[in-house]
Amino acid sequence: MLCFHLPDTALHQPPQFLVRGQPRPVPERPERVAAVLEALRARGDRVEDAPAAGPAARAAVHTPEYLAFLETAFARWSALPDAAPVVIPNVHRGPDMLSYPSSVVGQAGFHMSDTACPIAEGTWRATVAAADCAVAAARAVATGGEGAAYALCRPPGHHAGRDMAGGFCYLNHAAIAAEEARRLLAARGRPPRVAVLDVDVHHGNGTQGIFWRRDDVFFASVHGDPAEFYPFMAGHAHERGAGAGLGATLNLPLPLGSSEDAVLRAVEESLAAVARFAPSVLVLSLGFDTFKDDPLAAFAVTTPGFARLGRAIAGAGLPTVLIQEGGYAVDHLAANLSSFLDGFEG
Ligand SMILES: [Zn+2]
Repeated sequence: MLCFHLPDTALHQPPQFLVRGQPRPVPERPERVAAVLEALRARGDRVEDAPAAGPAARAAVHTPEYLAFLETAFARWSALPDAAPVVIPNVHRGPDMLSYPSSVVGQAGFHMSDTACPIAEGTWRATVAAADCAVAAARAVATGGEGAAYALCRPPGHHAGRDMAGGFCYLNHAAIAAEEARRLLAARGRPPRVAVLDVDVHHGNGTQGIFWRRDDVFFASVHGDPAEFYPFMAGHAHERGAGAGLGATLNLPLPLGSSEDAVLRAVEESLAAVARFAPSVLVLSLGFDTFKDDPLAAFAVTTPGFARLGRAIAGAGLPTVLIQEGGYAVDHLAANLSSFLDGFEG
């Protein structure tokens, strides 16, 4: 497998976030990068540094205001008197609040959907590096003749919307990869149709929102039922897209505690829908927090079960861009990724 990595993805090290109002250590830790690299090197995968993609790939998905906020927020926040060493909002955007704020405190409330996306000193450089990895993998698959490529993205990205961070996510690396693949496909006269399949245990609400009204990007997600699980306000089965995009979104929420077989059945169902859409490229939002012992666990997927998942997804027979999302059982991350890739390439 051709893999892309950049050391800057380890720079994001927020000291805390808020859980039920309490400051807590962040389980999305830089050690995740080292664990994944260990797995890739042990497998003998080709690991390359991703070149800088530049701002256009990020601007294809995110708004100028949001990108400027992410890049400058930590420095501006740190200049405030008595500020914590991490940006966490204390105001939030409401439907009757109509003006874009100039203060970084107001902008934090405007652009951060929860208290689980703290911005620290290295956050911007880390998510930009992750986006660079995603773009490199998309280019390798859409024009480089690779059947698949893996992007070691950290922090994850699928909860990030067009102008909103949330759930450990800042830039939406899967959406950036999908748009880059579309651009390259169109330039080569191929149908610029991309499907995003999200198998992280959490619903990819950011990705869904970005492509909600689009009929050229299909979004399918298998995840813990948001009736009782993050992100609560998106990912319900009745959400199917809108306007031209009506029917191009598929949500398959599963009850918390679902078995590996139930997860596999739902992934097979989503792959059948992807096949009907007939994309030129598949972008996979690959989370390992479906693992039975993940600290955020809701499903019971075993390490050998990830090989079954990999085989099922490879069975789609599509050029595939693999984007790393969640997975917080750091001691098991290498084994789970190895198992998935063994199944995918098997
Ligand atoms: Zn997740």
